[in-house]
Order: sequence, then structure tokens, then C-alpha cells
Amino acid sequence: MINSNATDLGDALVRPGLRALVPYESARRIGGSGEVWLNANENPYGRELTISAERWHRYPDFQPPAVIEGYARYAGVAPEQLLISRGADEAIELLIRTFCEPGVDNVIYCPPTYGMYNISSKTNLVALTEVPLDSDFQPDVAAILAAAADAKLLFLCSPNNPTGHLLERARLLALLDALAGKTLVVVDEAYIEFAMDATVVPLLAQYPHLVITRTLSKAFGLAGIRCGFTIAAPEVIGQLAKVIAPYPVPVPVAQIAAEALSAEGLARMAEQVSLLNSLRADFVSAMAALPNVKVWASHGNFVLLQVPDNLACMAAAAQAGIILRDQSKQKALPRCVRVTIGSEEEMLRTVNALENYLRSAG
Ligand SMILES: *Cc1c(COP(=O)(O)O)cnc(C)c1O
Repeated sequence: MINSNATDLGDALVRPGLRALVPYESARRIGGSGEVWLNANENPYGRELTISAERWHRYPDFQPPAVIEGYARYAGVAPEQLLISRGADEAIELLIRTFCEPGVDNVIYCPPTYGMYNISSKTNLVALTEVPLDSDFQPDVAAILAAAADAKLLFLCSPNNPTGHLLERARLLALLDALAGKTLVVVDEAYIEFAMDATVVPLLAQYPHLVITRTLSKAFGLAGIRCGFTIAAPEVIGQLAKVIAPYPVPVPVAQIAAEALSAEGLARMAEQVSLLNSLRADFVSAMAALPNVKVWASHGNFVLLQVPDNLACMAAAAQAGIILRDQSKQKALPRCVRVTIGSEEEMLRTVNALENYLRSAG
């Protein structure tokens, strides 16, 4: 059906359910100027890589064995429990496209949290039920179970972006027990390297409806190559593999990912994680010593702050060349900004800029 009131051809022909959709505001779409990028939870440390163009005239493997084997070894799972995708973002989308019938099924997500569970449900015209986190930023088990009647997917995030909280194990177990056989419980572990002891991978053996998403974008410092993983029971992976694009992992991406998963690559990642975790601890102490700010403990490479005025804080940081992420539109996060942990020098500069702002604010 052509919409005769539409303002242009795209508007006339787009799926009606998508006409009013506002796309995800990724850090790169929002932009901002400055040379200290603390707005996308990236790893501040780049590196030189050598890749070979020898195989670029051939289609890649559907799931490059070196990457699958490397990640299986690293994550402590079997190769059949893995799927590689274009970032964890594609994993989230694939789960929705594979398991949710538009107009019938339902996705549950728990804000304040990562934005793509919401956006990918909407782009697939799948209904979304919002069950907010409680005042400790933990999932509200009773409310989720009350809402879960026709839910195919429940998205949880641990460490949660942007609050930095880990999902309480007892709550996850309560949800897994109650939702067995009808709802896939997805735990997004995009930041798990910063709190590896908290991984829920050991629960996979017991809960075939548990799904974990992971990425090389954060701790591994490879946001630019777009490489993520789904870890799940082989029967869940098999369904996703029917839906994903035929050649989802470009050859150069596979080469770089395999290198990142080598013993050397893993050692480098672990070293950077411990450095970033200690820089985070320093940053949290520095903020805790300042007036006019609330700071939450975090298990990721980012820290959430509540300040007197989010826009003034963003502007003060921008004056000093630092780009932060405004989180004030998120549920229950008024006046909040998120600060990614950058290099030591970047953090000194950031503490300095925030100190100047906070001492004169309030
Ligand atoms: C960054 C992020 C992702 C997306 O990761 P990509 O692999 O870069 O697509 C997924 N989930 C959460 C919670 C994130 O913060």
C-alpha cells in the first residue's frame, strides 16, 4: 500500500512499521569534536597488524575454522556452540530475526541498558516489553516472569552498559529455571573480559536456553573489524546459522580475529584489561573525592556519573577536547553521563576537566 501523504519516495515505500523509527544513535553517528574519544567504550590502545591479501579473490569460509577454534579454546566451549557474526550487534539482530515472529512474539528487555535490543526488535517489527531494572540496577524477576507469557527472548546484559553492574547470579538462575523450554535467556557479555570470573558460560551445560553474546570490539580493541560471537547450545546455533548471511566473516576480519585469539593476542588483551581496570579504579576514586557527583562502581571499561547538569558536563569536557556519552535519556538515569576508560594520559585530562566542572557546578 502506497502512502499518499508521504513526503518522499522512501517514506512512501518503506515498511509502514518502520516509517517513524528513529535509528540507534551510535557514537559515530552522534559525532562530536575532540581528540579524546571516551564515548563508545572502545579500547584506547591500537596496534599494527600485518594481513595478507592472498585470499581476497576467494569467498571466505562460512565460519572461519581458525577463528572458531581460537574462540572456542578461549571461551572454554565446543566449536558447535559458536557462531561468528558482524559484531555482537548482528548476533542480537539474528536472535530476533531467527526466533521472533513479527506480530506474534515478544522480546523483553530491561532498561537502563544497551540500546540495540530495543532498536533491533523495532527494525524487525517485533513487539517489545520493557521491564525496567530495579533501583539496584538488577532485573526484576517477578515483573519479568509476569510479562514473559509470549516472550521468545529476554535480553540481559552483564556487565550492564551503561551502569557497569554485574547480573546477580541468583536472579539469573531464577529466570533460567522459570523460563526453561519457552524463552531464550540472552546474557550480553560484551564487557565480560573486565570481570571474567562473572561469565555465565559454565551454566550452558545445564541450561540449553541460555545464549551468550560476546565481541572483539571492547577488551580486544578491535571495534573496527566488526567481529562478535554467539555462544549457545548447538541446536540454537544451528537455527541462527540458517538465517545469517552466506559469507558473514570477511577474510581480513578472520585473519585479524585469529591473530587476536592466539596465545600472544590473548596475553596482550589480558594485560590491557588489567591496566584499564586499574585506571578505572583510579578514576572512580578521583570522582568519589569530588563534590556534586554520584559515581557508580563498574565492572566494565566505563563509569556512569550523575552530575548537576549533563549538557553542561558534556560541554565542559568538549571544551577540553574530550567526548563523553550522554545517558540522560535512558530510563532512571537523569543527568547521567558515561565515561569510557581511556589511556592514562586521557584519564588525567578527563579527571582534570571534570574536576573543574564539578567544583564550579551545583
Ligand atoms: C558495544 C556493545 C555491543 C556491540 O558490540 P559489537 O560487537 O561492536 O557489535 C553489544 N552489547 C553491548 C552491551 C555493547 O556495549
